[in-house]
Amino acid sequence: MKPKYFLFVLGCQMNKSDAERLETILEQIGYEKTSREDKADFIGVVSCAVRQSAMDRIYGKIRSWNLIKEKRPLITMLTGCVLKKDKEKLKYHFDILLDIKDIQKLPEELKKRNAQLGDFIPTTSYLSLKPKYESKFKAYVPIMTGCNKFCTYCAVPYTRGFEISRPAEEIYQEVKELIDQGYKEITLLGQNVNSYGNDTIDKRSPNYGKKLPTFPELLHEINSWPGDFWLRFITSHPYDMSDELIEVMAERNHLAEYLHLPVQSGSDEILRKMNRYYTVDHYLERLEKVRQAIPEISISTDIIVGFCGETEQQFAETAKLMEKVGYDMAYIARYSPRPGTAAARAFPDDVPAEIKKEREKILTEILKKTALAFNKKFIGQTTEALVEGTKKGKLIGKNRQFKTVTFPGSKELVGQFVKVKITDATAWGLNGEIA
Ligand code: SAH
Ligand code: SF4
Repeated sequence: MKPKYFLFVLGCQMNKSDAERLETILEQIGYEKTSREDKADFIGVVSCAVRQSAMDRIYGKIRSWNLIKEKRPLITMLTGCVLKKDKEKLKYHFDILLDIKDIQKLPEELKKRNAQLGDFIPTTSYLSLKPKYESKFKAYVPIMTGCNKFCTYCAVPYTRGFEISRPAEEIYQEVKELIDQGYKEITLLGQNVNSYGNDTIDKRSPNYGKKLPTFPELLHEINSWPGDFWLRFITSHPYDMSDELIEVMAERNHLAEYLHLPVQSGSDEILRKMNRYYTVDHYLERLEKVRQAIPEISISTDIIVGFCGETEQQFAETAKLMEKVGYDMAYIARYSPRPGTAAARAFPDDVPAEIKKEREKILTEILKKTALAFNKKFIGQTTEALVEGTKKGKLIGKNRQFKTVTFPGSKELVGQFVKVKITDATAWGLNGEIA
């Protein structure tokens, strides 16, 4: 019988994508996936350091996993985004600790414990591994790892290191294969996709001195290919949101009319303390340009409430910005100090938890209002949705603008594009029937 593995994946899409590559490694050496952690011989954690809550969940789990070890053999591994401080603490609880970029060393580590495992054929970098995609019709393709921005609140540059872009040919090949296999939605992934290729001038990068396309060039290339698919990308940084990128987005074609552009705060003073490199005016000017080029675009954002020293007035500026932009979606987070980051070292976390909660609530109310107004515009129109699954007996999918669309229909349509006539809208989505 094959040994079984269970993966506990926390955090963002990048982690989910990394887990798909980790599955390839484990299955190549002879493991088989299980969805039951109590049946697993190997448990791998792909962790997230962005918020404390993810870390707390790992501390909660590891105790029970270590209890299992008293009854039967179990190997545990920690990878993903882990801050130095957590690494120091957790190294006594896990059998294996590996940086995600060293994940190809896992077979060697496992073979030390189980000589019967099969051989693994390593590739130049873990991103070159062929992933075991979770879905048969939508795929996430990482184009780079790491981040050089060093926003003061953020753990990512510490846990993932500096930016490294994947060779363009490798990205093209992965995307081509997906299109050939009939994948309908491809999302290019990176912490800051707009700086793709910039590491060619960074002496620390393996791409130093190489000729790589810019992100708009990369996007334009894929967008010009034949096929029946949508193309998306996350995440963009407002500082690098160039005119060239907006021009390529305006080509539309495969590129869906959706942009995730995290603003974080509506106060210039807070943005400066966050080391975000832009002002509110710059952000609004970029957005204006995007909307002029693609009027039907939907916009989402990330916002942090209760960042160090955020006053009532500064928070009110964020609320004002949200009203002004009229976001379709916003991922609102309460500031959580991450040990080792510049903000955690330099500024006290002085906004009380209750106030953070209250501020989050206020922004959510604004979001509900603006998102509903945008969604109502769809009523009476026909929109195309990629059906992702079923929920409460209905089909559920996303349209090009990343709106959730719910409608009655047969399960065979999962993974297909379907035209839907919209009859009703809420803040969080659209309802309709097949057109
Ligand atoms: N690279 C992306 C996002 C990275 S993390 C970007 O630059 O936008 C995803 C989101 O988590 C961030 O946009 C931010 O809103 C939130 N986040 C990051 N660190 C945080 C912290 N310490 N406390 C609260 N939210 C945080
Ligand atoms: Fe973190 Fe800022 Fe880099 Fe995004 S751009 S990953 S928020 S440091």
